[in-house]
Amino acid sequence: MRTLKPHAALLASPGMGHLIPVVELGKRLAAHHGFDVTIFVVAPDSSIGESPVFSSASALNHLKLVLLPPVDISGLTDSTSSVVTQLVMMMREALPSLRTAISAMRARPATLVVDLFGTEALAVAEEFDMLKYVFITSTARFLAATIHLPTIDGKVEHEHRIMKRPLEIPGLEPVRFEDTLDLFLDQTDKSLYAEYTRIGREIPTADGILVNTWQDLEPSTLHALEDDKFLGRVTKAPVYPVGPLVRPVGPNSKSEVMNWLGMQPVESVIYVSFGSGGTLSAEQTTELAWGLELSQQRFVWVVRPPMDDDASGNFFNGSNGQDGTPNYLPGGFYTRTHDRGMVVPMWAPQTEILAHESVGGFVSHCGWNSTLESIVNGVPMVAWPLYAEQGMNAAMLVEKLGTAVRSRMRPAGGPIGREEIADMVRSVINSKGNGMRTRAKELQRGAAGAVLEGGSSHNSLTRVAKECEVKLHSLSARALGA
Ligand code: UDP
Repeated sequence: MRTLKPHAALLASPGMGHLIPVVELGKRLAAHHGFDVTIFVVAPDSSIGESPVFSSASALNHLKLVLLPPVDISGLTDSTSSVVTQLVMMMREALPSLRTAISAMRARPATLVVDLFGTEALAVAEEFDMLKYVFITSTARFLAATIHLPTIDGKVEHEHRIMKRPLEIPGLEPVRFEDTLDLFLDQTDKSLYAEYTRIGREIPTADGILVNTWQDLEPSTLHALEDDKFLGRVTKAPVYPVGPLVRPVGPNSKSEVMNWLGMQPVESVIYVSFGSGGTLSAEQTTELAWGLELSQQRFVWVVRPPMDDDASGNFFNGSNGQDGTPNYLPGGFYTRTHDRGMVVPMWAPQTEILAHESVGGFVSHCGWNSTLESIVNGVPMVAWPLYAEQGMNAAMLVEKLGTAVRSRMRPAGGPIGREEIADMVRSVINSKGNGMRTRAKELQRGAAGAVLEGGSSHNSLTRVAKECEVKLHSLSARALGA
């Protein structure tokens, strides 16, 4: 049965970096566009249900979160399977429970929105005669690269992957090999390239593609995605920039780190974090510690035990030195830096930290959620990409937007050295003179305007809502006629 109130089902793939923007999209549809929203969440176990992201959204009106039964892929993957392949497997295994859950709904939604790893569920939407959308929780540039992938032949792939030539994408700046996607770098996981190519083929089969970006942030790429001379002939479906969709700052948090920030001068602290999963090698962790110390700047560093990039992982044990410094940081680090730095183990309230007036810079892995959280707070960055599409994000921040610095290319690999880290930190904190902070504040204003009523992203979602309404009416007219 369907009611005439628009109802959208959203499907979130595993990982905080996916769940957070999907939940924010759901909140926006419910609060500003009159939808009832049901978010189906796929996860390897039920612990996500206890996360604040899950529980706070579950308490909202017109928004319901449903954790699909945990999926077990242990028999389907092996030690060479990348995180992306595991994600794809989990999403594939979750399809039967999604189908069951939708068919059991009393008020069945007329629309299904899936994220990048959920494109196989577009077929489920078709079974139920629903409108189908893909929500790209990253940039328009990443969308362009992904839908371009199936059109690349073996020669182009070889030239990019092996000969390290830039990847040409119609209407966009070429992607340098140094900034390329994981799928061109991973030599062990044979299915990665094929899965991304499949996703690239499936995205254009949607009725629309939502992207967590906004018109003024990526005008030329959005144009290339619509223009038949460039990628428009591949995209086919309309592209809707709907961002920035970012987690709002929570109610007054009283943590130690927030108290400490409250005692620091305005825009004086650099915040250092590599997302929900980013981990550095032992050598790189040491260089970063020395770099922060050498910079003489105030810092908050979310530290994780290092892991060398050995497939089996090589965690250090967590014992501490005499002053409490964990043994993977240089001896005495806490003593030497306690007057101007704070180390937070594992996880910090990032949106609150970035919104604090004392924070003046962000050393980030350039995950798109972190990048957006920096932009909406007008905070310039040290771009330190680690994996996925983060190299492309870093290139955009440094070369197009001018709100970040990044390390010099290191053709021989190896860690970023402490002096360079110290220089980058200083240049971001003291970025009044070099224009980065001014540019970051301009972007902040543009981002705020895009989501206001009448702003470009608000208008995009209004168009999507209209399409859903039309679909709903046609379905109910059909039901009455039947
Ligand atoms: N995050 C956080 N505290 C941390 C690390 C991460 O709250 O200590 C949040 C961060 O605010 C962001 C998300 O986790 O919303 C990470 O998403 P992103 O796309 O930046 O990176 P990913 O984790 O997907 O690589």
